[in-house]
Amino acid sequence: MPGLDDLYKEIILDHYKSPRNRGELETPPAVKAEGFNPLCGDEITVFLKVETDDEGTERVVDVAIGGQGCAISQASASLMSSAVKGKTLAEVDDLTHTMKAQLGIEGAEPREAPLGDIEALKGVGRFPERIKCATLSWNTMTEALEQH
Ligand code: ZN
Repeated sequence: MPGLDDLYKEIILDHYKSPRNRGELETPPAVKAEGFNPLCGDEITVFLKVETDDEGTERVVDVAIGGQGCAISQASASLMSSAVKGKTLAEVDDLTHTMKAQLGIEGAEPREAPLGDIEALKGVGRFPERIKCATLSWNTMTEALEQH
């Protein structure tokens, strides 16, 4: 049986206790989406500011996270916010797929995207009832980007 150490890795606890990029962004120019995980009561708000650079590439130039919930949901949102800042939308899409694939989500195909600290969430895949906690912020980000 997987132990709790697999679930609450040090990186996850650090991001839960000291969440990165907490706050709000002005909408517009930022886009915003809210997500809710009724299984656990987690709430996440994602603000993203996307700009097109000189070469015509769309890039996440700023991100802010609001909400409340369990350690996994909040740490995942914090890890995500750190990972996507400065990335192109194509890179964000690759990262989202790779992150979901490591949790064994159906339909997600791993791509060539370095996960870095996000790999700490891999252990959550062994706790099926917690997977929605880990994916909530990522699904909410995808929703925000669809409005962009
Ligand atoms: Zn949760």
